[in-house]
Formats: sequence, C-alpha cells, structure tokens
Amino acid sequence: MCGIVGYIGDREAFPILIKGLQRLEYRGYDSAGVALISDASELQIYKKKGKVSELMAATTSQNRSGRIGIGHTRWATHGEPNDINSHPHSSQNKNLVIIHNGIIENYAALKSGLSKRGHTFISDTDTEVLIHLIEDIKEHEGLKLGHAVQAALRQVVGAYAIVVMDKEDPETLVAAKKGSPMVIGIGSTGDFFIASDASPIVEYTKNVVYLEDEQVAVLRKGKALKIRNLKDKEITPYVQKLTIELEAIEKGGYDHFMLKEIYEQPRSIKDSMRGRLIADEAKVQLGGIVDYEAHFKQAKRIIIIGCGTSWHAGLVGEYLFEELARIPVEVEYASEFRYRNPILFSDDIVIAVSQSGETADTLAAIELAKQKGAKIIGICNVVGSSIARASHAGSYTHAGPEIGVASTKAFTAQVTVLTLMALHIARLKAGISDSRYRQMLYEMETIPAKVEAVLKTSPSIKDIASTYKDVKNALYLGRGITFPVALEGALKLKEISYIHAEGYPAAEMKHGPIALIDEDMPVVVIATKGANYEKVLSNIQEVKARKGKIIAVVTEGDTEVKSMADHCIEIPETDEYLSPLLSVIPLQLLSYEIAVMRGCNVDQPRNLAKSVTVE
Ligand code: GLU
Repeated sequence: MCGIVGYIGDREAFPILIKGLQRLEYRGYDSAGVALISDASELQIYKKKGKVSELMAATTSQNRSGRIGIGHTRWATHGEPNDINSHPHSSQNKNLVIIHNGIIENYAALKSGLSKRGHTFISDTDTEVLIHLIEDIKEHEGLKLGHAVQAALRQVVGAYAIVVMDKEDPETLVAAKKGSPMVIGIGSTGDFFIASDASPIVEYTKNVVYLEDEQVAVLRKGKALKIRNLKDKEITPYVQKLTIELEAIEKGGYDHFMLKEIYEQPRSIKDSMRGRLIADEAKVQLGGIVDYEAHFKQAKRIIIIGCGTSWHAGLVGEYLFEELARIPVEVEYASEFRYRNPILFSDDIVIAVSQSGETADTLAAIELAKQKGAKIIGICNVVGSSIARASHAGSYTHAGPEIGVASTKAFTAQVTVLTLMALHIARLKAGISDSRYRQMLYEMETIPAKVEAVLKTSPSIKDIASTYKDVKNALYLGRGITFPVALEGALKLKEISYIHAEGYPAAEMKHGPIALIDEDMPVVVIATKGANYEKVLSNIQEVKARKGKIIAVVTEGDTEVKSMADHCIEIPETDEYLSPLLSVIPLQLLSYEIAVMRGCNVDQPRNLAKSVTVE
C-alpha cells in the first residue's frame, strides 16, 4: 500500500509533493515524509508519524525549497508507525534517499550481509536495507545511480515501487517497480512527476507512462525519459493519455469521499452498463470477453477470487451465475486460494475481482491459476492496472476513481458487471428463457433510477443511526442472494465505525449467533420480497422473541415485516437477482451516518488502506 510521489523540474517541489500525498493518503496514513534538495544542494528530510496535514504543520517554519523531491505516505509493514520508521530513508553516507511501497522479503539476509560490511541501521524497515544495498553497490562498483538501482533490485525478492534521489546529483530521479504500481507523468517543460496512481499527476499533465514490473526509469530534468529493465535492455516508453478528470478525484461539496461515492451510484451503475446493456435489442455486449465466450460456454466451473468487498461482490456473482447460467461457481478468498495448492482444470474460468486492480493476493492467485492453465477474466475499476493486464480478458467496472477506503460504488459496479456477464453467458448457453432474459434486461435499465429513490431514504436512516450509534455489536442477516449483502453491510460498519458486526445467513443464526441476541442487539435484516421472504419472516420472529431490535430493509409497500420490525427502510421492488444493487445502499448509508456520529474518520479508517498491495 502506501503512496509515493516524486517531482523533478523547474517548479517548487514541496507543494506538488504535499498535494500529491493528500490525494494518495487513501493508500496509507500511518506517517508521512518528504525529502527535497534545494538549489544550494542541501538535502532536507522531514518525516513524521501521522497524517500529511501534521507533516505540513510541522514543517511550516522549515526550509522547504527545492525543485526536486520525493514524498511518501506510509502503511507500515515492517516496524511500527513512528517518526524513525517513516519514509524517506537514507543510506549510510546520507547522500541517497528512498521512498518505497511494498515489501522486501529477503531484507533480513541482505541486512546481515550489509551489517558485516559496516552498515548500521536506524529503523526497523525493510526499505532502509534497500537504500543501503543500493549505496553499497554504487560505491563498490563505481556505478551510476540508475545502474546501482538495477543491480540492487536483481538481489531483491519481494514487491516494490521505489524512487531514489542522490544529493550529489540533484538533476536525476530513479524510479523502479515490481508488483506495486507506478505512473510517470511527462510535463511540458522537461519536468517529470511520479506517483502510485495518476491522481497527483492529472492536474499537471495527461501524458503518462505506466512503468512495468522490473523496469527502472531514469528521469533527468529536460532530458528524455530513459527506461531499462533489470537485464539492462533499453525499453521504449509507451506514452498514454490520462482520461480521468480532476473533478473525479475531488470531494465536490460532500463532507467525505465515501458519501460522494455513495451518491454517485446512480451514475456509476449507469456507466458500468453503458454500451453493454441494450435492452431494446435484447442484447448484452461485453467487448472485453468476446474472445473467451467459447471458454465460458464450455466451462464446467467458474472460480471467483477477490478480497474484502470484492469477495462479497463475487458471492453475489455466484448466485447470479448459478441461477441464470447454471454453471457451478466457487468463490475464494484470493489469499487462501493461492496458498493451498488448489485443484484447477484448463477449462476452468477464474474471475478475478478487484477495485484497484493491484490487490497483491489476487494478483498472485491469478499467476497461480494461469500456471495451471485456467483462463482469467478480470473485473477491475482501474484501467491499465496490474490485474487488468495480467488477465486474459475482462470487463472494467467504469465506476470512476474510488477514494473512500470503504468501498461503495465499486461494489455496485462489480455486481453490475457480474450481472451482465451472468446474463450474457446464460443467453449464450441458452440456460435462460427468452422472456426472463428480456425482462431482466429491462429491469436492469431501471436500477439507476431506483438507486436514486433509495438514496432519498437517507433522513430516516440518519434517525436509525442516531438510535444505534453507541452499540457495541450488530448482526446482519440475509438469505439467498441477499446474504452477501448482509456480509457487506457488516463489513462497512466494522471498517468505518469500529463496531463489531457480523453478517450471517439468516437461517444459520439459530446455529450459534442467536445466543448473542438480547435487547441491546440491533439486527439488520434484508427482508425484501423474494423466494425466501416467508422464511426470513420466521427468522425475524426468532429475533423478536429474544427481544432483539430489528432494522429491516423491505420492499416498498411491505406490511408484514413492518408489523414486526422496530425500523423499516423501504426500497423499490425489483427482480430478486438484481436486488443487491438496491439493498446494499441503505446499509452503506447506515454505516456512514453511524461513523460520522461517532466522530470516526470515515475516509481514512484506522489500520486500513485502500489498495492492498502487500500480502
Ligand atoms: N515495507 C515498507 C515499510 O514498512 C513500506 C510499506 C508501504 O508500502 O507503505 O515501511
């Protein structure tokens, strides 16, 4: 995780670095730091535990001048978050400085070798070891910085996106990556920008180069960008045009990114369907998987992999594919799948779901599945991301940048794409009747407007939030396709309000969690109309009989649940298999309102980071 940013050119670097770090802060916010080389060749390093704003405040009276600099916002892996472990880290002679995103897995072995050669270390990080290694090679082999970085990285096992700066050569930055993302922006005045994603770059230039794994870039002010790989082969940079706009990564009048993103869902769902759902022609078009339709038709099994919210979207996908396309589906946590020698067949389809497209566990699971001959279909939000590139084919979710750490619009976009995919494959396999297929396509078209209607229930959700904001525990129940929605609702509450919450299949409650129910336990039940409606009514009775408090998400006009529940949130009627797109919205709003009322940092919940690029 962590965000890295760099600048070299004619402008003052500090404001660019700080603004960039604030945009990247969703990636990690344990500590922040910058290093700058002034025009008088003085190297300044400022770093501090805490947020970027604290770093800014702590450096107001310091010398922050310089036209070359690097900055970092950390999500600690090696060493607790404190000032010393914060990045940038320096080499032994203090001339070289580094920022790093990732993990150097063999850092202990490298460290002991370097210690024997007289290196001393002041932090607990793996990163500090790497900059000492680069220095050691540079000094002993008399190499230029770029070549020393190449040579050092040849010895490294692990993942990294790094930027290195040398006090003795204030006209050069060296950047490299493997596993962790890195974008280089090419400015119009011979200047360069580097960042973990495009958000710090977009306001300065739209011309970018996405660095590939094991590539080392040398950025010299006023000179052409030079890239070589670790085998020292020169690579011609492939310059792409950024398509994101600045407004998309700003809050646009909302108090939090999460709220903005919740409210964007009518549009983001529409964007996920745009050009793909043509209800009048009874057609779903998914250009990205056209070449793999035959594989889908023949597949005896689909395995969906993901982590966190993406895993929940995968579970919704399981219900959709099994119900509509009649293909057996298994949904796996990527982190478990990759380490348990899974049995895969060459006619298996693996669907990898990830918002960022950089999730380390999902990426590793993809590599494993590929080795075993499976076909990989990626569902990612970030265009050009590592998972998108590692997949054989796929469909982007097109939800636009998601910055709030708790995922909202990415979930509904993932579910939208999985729904379209399941419907399309069902149609190809003739596993769905013509009338149901057409009916579902027409119904899907109405979803954005229905989401809009659900968002209007926000005042009553606020009231419910104020009643339950101080609870210690909560239970979320759903059945069938609403079970994953219950899991997602519970995850949202945990992540941003730190209330312990569990999602459970409603019928399973009696096999354990029912013991938790008393008059203090709020139970959020998704009790919308569908095949299991009557069964869920019984589950609600079971909770009420034990004095639990019921907050029910119901279909508009429902009277039965209303007569039993303590609170009801109505959502418009829709096809049961499309209902997760609606029923998740009140749960997102409920967790948001509770977190705000508890004074939690909604966009940057403790211990979390947005894109999990470490194992
Ligand atoms: N492994 C490094 C550290 O613990 C970098 C972690 C990150 O990616 O933020 O400092």
